[in-house]
Amino acid sequence: MDRSKPVLSRRGLFRAAGSAAVTGSLICSGVAGVAQGALLEAESGAESQPVTAGMAAAAGGKAAGAPVVVVGESDGGGAGPRARAWPYIAEILRRAGVFFDQLPADRLAERLDRPDQVVLLAGHLRLKAAHRDRLARWVNSGGSLIGIGGTSGLDEVFGVASARPLAEGWIKLGAQDHPLVANLRSSLHVFGGFAVTPAGATAVATVESGPQGAKGSAILENRFGRGRAILLAPDLIFSVVHIQQGLPVFQDGKPAPDGSAPIDDGELKAEDGLVLDWQRDRTPMEPDKVPVFLEPVSDELREIILRSIFHLASQQGIPLPLVWYWPNKLPAVGHISHDTDGNDPTKAVAMLEVVERCKLKSTWCTLYPGGYPRGFYRTLKEKGYEIALHYDARTGEPYTRWSKDNLILQRQWLLKEAGLREITSNKNHYTRWEGRLDFLRWCQEVGIRADQTRGPSKQGTIGFPLGGSQPYFPLDDEADPPRLLDVLEVNMLTQDLVVVCPPQYGRQLVDSVLRHHGVAHFLFHPSHIQKPHVAETLADLVAYGRRRGLQWWTNRQILQWETLRRGIAMEAGPGRTFTLRPARAVQGATLVVLRPQPEHQSRLLVDGRPVSSTPWTAHGFTFDAVTLDLAGPTTLRIL
Ligand SMILES: [Zn+2]
Repeated sequence: MDRSKPVLSRRGLFRAAGSAAVTGSLICSGVAGVAQGALLEAESGAESQPVTAGMAAAAGGKAAGAPVVVVGESDGGGAGPRARAWPYIAEILRRAGVFFDQLPADRLAERLDRPDQVVLLAGHLRLKAAHRDRLARWVNSGGSLIGIGGTSGLDEVFGVASARPLAEGWIKLGAQDHPLVANLRSSLHVFGGFAVTPAGATAVATVESGPQGAKGSAILENRFGRGRAILLAPDLIFSVVHIQQGLPVFQDGKPAPDGSAPIDDGELKAEDGLVLDWQRDRTPMEPDKVPVFLEPVSDELREIILRSIFHLASQQGIPLPLVWYWPNKLPAVGHISHDTDGNDPTKAVAMLEVVERCKLKSTWCTLYPGGYPRGFYRTLKEKGYEIALHYDARTGEPYTRWSKDNLILQRQWLLKEAGLREITSNKNHYTRWEGRLDFLRWCQEVGIRADQTRGPSKQGTIGFPLGGSQPYFPLDDEADPPRLLDVLEVNMLTQDLVVVCPPQYGRQLVDSVLRHHGVAHFLFHPSHIQKPHVAETLADLVAYGRRRGLQWWTNRQILQWETLRRGIAMEAGPGRTFTLRPARAVQGATLVVLRPQPEHQSRLLVDGRPVSSTPWTAHGFTFDAVTLDLAGPTTLRIL
């Protein structure tokens, strides 16, 4: 492959990835390594390094034949406004630990010389006739193709007769037990793309929209010659970005008609930008039947894309190793944060006693001004807690209004007060938010590398109002070209159990997260810890999560792991061999290898030696899992 030419003319993410000809998970490994270094140095007390590079701009290991090939739009200018979100497919696949190559359509021919790979068209692409013909011939001869958000002109390959643009709708499952959709529970609210009429393809799901809107099939499976094609007709990539990032917040949101979420409270906050639907996207909770966003829509939309890859790979016998979301076969991670509103040292000590009793390491988001006595910060640091910022843009004093200058000032204040060299994460007081991406850009500029603001302030917005349980790097789709922001967002599920909702919500939310393998993030204010039943509820939640197999981490640990994990690059070699190249040593990395059939266990060789694996189920598919310490290049062979 010629790696010297820029790959796509205007799509930065694709260009950055393609010009280095990279494997997926690992587009950012170079920078991730540097960033991780900065974190580790900060922890060990050495002078910390500024973190300036964006995740998207970096390049990882060389790819030779990754099992998944992503094809992007080569000219964003004419493909419509939603096309600006399509490069986000890279972030979706990276978070899932899928290794992939990215190529422009012009260079597809180089990769279509063999059938044993999955080609994914990221958006309704404007392919030239020659490229469409080439792709059709390749599928016909046994290739596996996935289309997202439209057919890209390959109607015959996808078995589709016609398509009608879709403004907004809900995917309705037909075949409940089909591997692409089995056991999905959310409303599957989607934005953009198409509803289509099948001509030969089997419809797995339909889409419903408004009274005058498009109706038809949403998910279709087709055999084309010796190959297979899956069409995800609604624009799932745009939908994930839209649900996560929401509308710009310049006015109060519309409240829930049932009175459960009065977000029109005169204060601008993250929820005011939510795009989900009060009636169709919420689920009544036990025991009080108040509807909340219990099922993470964007997690399930991501999973439909992943399941499409797994389904085709297993049917066509394509070897597919992934780096699991978490180390040591953890099914999910929990995270408890505290916002220090009031800065009452007595209540801080009371909270510390509770979390110490739970053997929990939590994140203390500290509010300006005042804060805690310096000795208390020392105690937190000695005991391994994370001290984070609780940016106040609510109080309205000169230094507590919404502005970048005030974020900088408050960060400087906390660095000094708490004797820190680095502040890794932040949560905004009252979940304050204005505009859409400004705050995340500010965080990137000042070196705050994780945000945990986006979540509810009302009972009726509890759960997943702004994306799902998967931590994610947001997309600056207003930049030209679009680029990822180097700030990991960890959504918050609810504030104080007992105080804002019944304690029973906690376990239901943990169960939702376990189904999707993300982060269960709960906020407990020290100001409420001495109220009846709060401490017991926190302890019960922590114990329940542990019984279900998750570990409770600080926000900083979540960022450190995600950075380390994304530093693992992969090269695919001949004979079902894959070489993993960690940017830094990784302890306890869990690799999962898709089984072609659920009952057919793969034999795995690591550096030539057989290793014992355990069966692993995720997103409805069966894998073989093995946990390894990766100190340097490591080969995995799948027999
Ligand atoms: Zn607060």
